[in-house]
Amino acid sequence: MKDNPNGGGRLVVVSNRLPLALRREGDTWRFEAGSGGLVSALGPVLKDRGGIWVGWPGNREPIERNLLRHILGPISKSSGYRLIPVTLEAEEVKDYYEGFANASIWPLFHDLQTECLFYPRFWEAYRAVNSRFARVVSRHSRHEDFIWVHDYHLMNLALELKKKDRERRCAFFLHIPFPPPDIFLKLPWRYEVMEALAAFDFVGFQTLRDRQNFQACLRAFWPSSRIRGRGPVVRISRDEGDVIAGALPISIDYGHFETLARSEMARETQKALRQTHGDRKIYLGVDRLDYTKGVLQRLEAYERTLEQNEELREKVVFVQILVPSREGVGAYSRLRDEIAQTVSRINGRFATTGWVPLIFFFRSLPPEELAGFYRAADVAVVTPLRDGMNLVAKEYCTCQLDNDGILILSEFAGAAGQLAQGALLVNPHDIEGLSKVLKEAFFMDLKDRRKRMRRLRQIVKRRDIFWWVDNFLRAAAGKALRDFPPGDLAPLLPQPLERHLS
Ligand code: UDP
Repeated sequence: MKDNPNGGGRLVVVSNRLPLALRREGDTWRFEAGSGGLVSALGPVLKDRGGIWVGWPGNREPIERNLLRHILGPISKSSGYRLIPVTLEAEEVKDYYEGFANASIWPLFHDLQTECLFYPRFWEAYRAVNSRFARVVSRHSRHEDFIWVHDYHLMNLALELKKKDRERRCAFFLHIPFPPPDIFLKLPWRYEVMEALAAFDFVGFQTLRDRQNFQACLRAFWPSSRIRGRGPVVRISRDEGDVIAGALPISIDYGHFETLARSEMARETQKALRQTHGDRKIYLGVDRLDYTKGVLQRLEAYERTLEQNEELREKVVFVQILVPSREGVGAYSRLRDEIAQTVSRINGRFATTGWVPLIFFFRSLPPEELAGFYRAADVAVVTPLRDGMNLVAKEYCTCQLDNDGILILSEFAGAAGQLAQGALLVNPHDIEGLSKVLKEAFFMDLKDRRKRMRRLRQIVKRRDIFWWVDNFLRAAAGKALRDFPPGDLAPLLPQPLERHLS
């Protein structure tokens, strides 16, 4: 393996999933390489530092070790960093991934306690899998390496490394929200999870609110802990050791999405949508199937808008794209049925000979086509009940090349912290209020729309995914890792970081 040419430690990224999806089709294995913003932003840094990415390749059926090596080898070679797999047994996928991660932590951290299942076997599997990840990380890393752990599947990783007496600089980023104490404290393993998070050297959150919630929860267990520093990054000191906590909102590859929006396919898609819907205003919802996304509430608000504003009928169309997700978790298939019923109820009530008010896609679209939908939409309706960030909101703004679309955004999306100035903010639980905003968007004049969208696009452009990676590494790794490739380090942090870290 190539060492970092600068002589410092390597970067080791750890996430539940490797940046690829492996699946069996008959007798052969197929894989798709990951291509999201995170992969393109981390790729150059990993390459430069002779880095490693550790994660589960996503296979649900057992795969022979040599075959896996045979598949991953060429991908590692072409990407310029090593992919190290952690394989999971079928039972572990059920209890650790679909169980503790997606049926205990996911709903709890999104304030949806009624969806939570707190089974002890889930927690046991979570601990065991985190311990396995730690074993793999310790086997493939050295003392001077820097470990960057992603998301709620691996909160125990630093603690498990410590248990194995492996001293590593270890940072964590939580992509989902962090709840306030009155919600977090419902978790039966609240102390264990808090202790595990505090074992990282650095913990990063999407928003200031998430970071403050974390501080409040930490204080519930260690009331004498002290917080130093102001601004997005603070140091929390306890007798057991310090942890640095930061608020660093993730973003998208702005340049890439702009290019997608200019692509031939995006233009064709936009044209086709316009031809189909004529002068009608197109409202767009794009979500993964998830009860946190507020899709039912949004559709009900649209129904109310049509009910109360006869003059809007036949002048609007709502396109809802829903990407299938987590099919193994019961709550998701129930939700899919409920959404499908709501769509047919609304269409049944209001459709006319020449107009279908609600168009529903239940599948994933290729990126260029999605960019075409973003371009064509007059209004994006992004109304999660709670969301860590919500990248769809940022992607929509980026693809609005003519600066004339409107973003309706939930107050409870992490993105609201950055986009409040240009978006129409809504409370997604307030169906009546959301319905009024859907109407307001219909009548908003071009000047106002342009002013808002320009502002939104500027914010997304300035704070893109590269900005986020640079700032995370600066905040988490500080001086010791100053040999990361220099980039445009945006002044997120009000004063030189070293002052926070010293
Ligand atoms: N997306 C996609 N294909 C689609 C619809 C959406 O690849 O047909 C992507 C979209 O571009 C975005 C992601 O799914 O990057 C959704 O991210 P978001 O942060 O909005 O929500 P999450 O699914 O992570 O909760």
